[in-house]
Amino acid sequence: LLASTLAGCGIVSDGSANSGNATNNAGSTAGGKDDGKIVIGMSMDTLKEERWQKDRDLFTAKVEELGGEVKVLAANGDDATQLSQAEQLISQGVDVLVVIAHNAEATAPIVEKAHKEGIKVIAYDRLIRNSDVDYYISFDNVRVGELQAQAVIDAAPKGNIVYIGGADTDNNAHMFKEGAMNVLKPLEEKGDIKIVYDQFSKDWKPEEALKNMENALTANNNDIQGVVAANDGTAGGVIQALNAQGMAGKIPVSGQDADLAAVQRIAEGTQLMTVYKPIKSIATTAAEMAVAAAKGEEVQADKTVNNGKIDVPSVLLDPIPVNKDSLNVVIDDGFHKLEDVYK
Ligand code: BGC
Repeated sequence: LLASTLAGCGIVSDGSANSGNATNNAGSTAGGKDDGKIVIGMSMDTLKEERWQKDRDLFTAKVEELGGEVKVLAANGDDATQLSQAEQLISQGVDVLVVIAHNAEATAPIVEKAHKEGIKVIAYDRLIRNSDVDYYISFDNVRVGELQAQAVIDAAPKGNIVYIGGADTDNNAHMFKEGAMNVLKPLEEKGDIKIVYDQFSKDWKPEEALKNMENALTANNNDIQGVVAANDGTAGGVIQALNAQGMAGKIPVSGQDADLAAVQRIAEGTQLMTVYKPIKSIATTAAEMAVAAAKGEEVQADKTVNNGKIDVPSVLLDPIPVNKDSLNVVIDDGFHKLEDVYK
């Protein structure tokens, strides 16, 4: 009965990607507490951006290397789905739950439910706010925003600057913006630049970023000198809007993730830069943390980040800015192949 229940729930992905190798061996036991094998649950917001498939696959590979198994469910950007999928993983008896939160606040009840069953929760890449989440692993996201804005400012030291943010519901989007504003605000106060448009893009959707950029262009009669876009998906929307005005490649646009499409745009010259976050580092370290937590061993976390309720023991990795002259970084790291980057 148990086996068939598990086989039935299978793996959900958001359609843009198959479940890949992150399958739970349907037909095996519920794993977890009683059969000795470590089972880690991974509750994902989405698989839409290219990076998340890498996160899933590299995380799973590392946990397996450490002798465990991973059950992955992806919520397709829906809070209620993420909550019920997390509950599913909890009731399947996972030893540790790793959550990539769609919504920083709405995922807090997941932590509470997991804790009731003695399951520790690791917030992966995105912080879960106002909760007793056990650990947080991410990149230094304020730094990401600073790198983005600094690169745009280096290319456009004076004039009208647009900020195209990510999802309002994602704590990271706020940190990227905080970082960008650390760079932009003092320059605005000095009178060098003016932030003429500043909006989040719902659910990080490129089409939302496109609409935002169209609005920014219209409101300013195309008099814009630089765009800080929060990730490569939103940068894609921004560049599409610029292209429609014959402005693509003429003004600097930032990004993040080193998505293949973005890296190609950088090679072609329509995107200024991206922020590369080595996914292998976060996935591998998170896997080690999850397995250590599952075994009741000490989890290495050298920093803390306040989530509105507690100081969460955290690991923050370094993001790396990449532009036309340093694209070799992502190639040398095996993130993309040379022949894919330069088409
Ligand atoms: C991640 C970014 C990603 C964005 C959209 C953020 O929380 O840190 O890498 O581009 O979500 O999925």
